Amino acid sequence: MIPMSLAQIASAVDGKLSETADPEAVATGDVEFDSRKAGPGGLFLALPGDKVDGHDFAAQARAQGALATIATRTIASPAIYVDDAMAALTKLAKHIAAATDARIIGVTGSNGKTSTKDLIGQLCAGLGPTVATEGNFNNELGHPYTVCRVAPDTKYLVLELAARGLGHITELCAIAPPSIGAVLNVGISHLDGFGSIETTAEAKSELPRFLGPEGTAVLNADDPRVAAMAGRTRAQVLTFGVQNPADITAADVDARDGRHAFTLRTPDGHARVELGLWGAHQVNNALAAAAVMWRLGAGPDAIAAGLSAADRKSMRRMDVFTRPDGTVVIDDSYNANPASTGAAVRALGLLPTRGRRIAVLGLMADLEELSETCHRRVGEQAAEAGIDEVIAIGDGTEPILDGADGVTATHVPDQAAAIELLENRLRPGDAVLVKGSRYRTWDVADHLRAKEE
Ligand code: ATP
Ligand code: MG
Repeated sequence: MIPMSLAQIASAVDGKLSETADPEAVATGDVEFDSRKAGPGGLFLALPGDKVDGHDFAAQARAQGALATIATRTIASPAIYVDDAMAALTKLAKHIAAATDARIIGVTGSNGKTSTKDLIGQLCAGLGPTVATEGNFNNELGHPYTVCRVAPDTKYLVLELAARGLGHITELCAIAPPSIGAVLNVGISHLDGFGSIETTAEAKSELPRFLGPEGTAVLNADDPRVAAMAGRTRAQVLTFGVQNPADITAADVDARDGRHAFTLRTPDGHARVELGLWGAHQVNNALAAAAVMWRLGAGPDAIAAGLSAADRKSMRRMDVFTRPDGTVVIDDSYNANPASTGAAVRALGLLPTRGRRIAVLGLMADLEELSETCHRRVGEQAAEAGIDEVIAIGDGTEPILDGADGVTATHVPDQAAAIELLENRLRPGDAVLVKGSRYRTWDVADHLRAKEE
């Protein structure tokens, strides 16, 4: 955190110091809501929960060295009393964002936010001290929490911006105004929150619309809904793309072994990138990251070296491993929607294997009336990608079988049945993709992982 006295913090969050708190004491550590992490010189945020109430842990946080607890009810240890703990965290984040000179970079889109944010975070860290959203911690709590981690020496703040409805990204931008905003794509995800793809596009467009004339909107030239946002921003526009002309592009894309290599072209020259990440969609994410880094002043060689060294950071996202028996597993079971499932199925099709290619697919949730069409389409994509066998798990995935013409396709009721079937079918050297919304295929992935090398 940027050092602030308790009196300054109380004023920033519209709170009142308890008599036990020293107004002159300066907080230098971070704000934590998990008392186990609260440490010397930091602040503890007591959140009222359904099962546990943070206030019960204020004394523990104090014993670990936390200077004060941001609290909504009376406690014995030093406190900053507020009406609403989350609102207080947001106010503090706003204050810190206004005080920092760090470049603030926002990333949004339907798919690939975490992957791209991690790439940008890793590349920025090569340029200077960087704070980035941890994992997928992009919600109402995670966003201000991340901003509050900015320290006096922080040069880059990289934020994953998730839109849960219209107006949401504008709210997040108002807390920590980005000077660079990247929009990756507009696809069918979380449709329940938006109702239509047009509304989804409208929500994502809030990022480029928020940027001022000094800012840069990094836009995907290959996604017409994103490219159209160029006309709706006051910021300078920097485009990236593989198919359409763009400022930052990939040439000579080579996907022989499922990992992608390409020549990164920037206005300053070009350099070869060899991604350690799997799947063609990572080329798009890498280009978005490259555009951001180029805007920050990095040259093509440095960007290419950084991208080639970047590694998968998050579990269950295109995580490829080999079991001792030689079976290759792509664990992409973290989550699923039509675009990411299509991308994963294509990646399985490209995976070099001496055996068969098997896709274990769980439900793509929240698609409502589009569900049947989208699942049938995945079956078609499996057939197009040359997948040998599809195992569809659970209610709602039956239409995959209708689309998977010429593919051995089985529908099973649950993950236990899928595991049993896999155990019978798997031969050494086969390749397996595991993909579904949230927990719907995690047991299958974990079962395969238990035999990981
Ligand atoms: P969430 O909305 O859950 O936060 P996200 O936008 O952060 O998702 P990631 O976590 O990076 O996205 O990736 C989610 C899934 O989408 C993974 O299965 C990944 O392989 C796939 N994916 C990543 N980038 C793209 C892309 N550019 N196009 C299509 N699918 C992608
Ligand atoms: Mg994410």
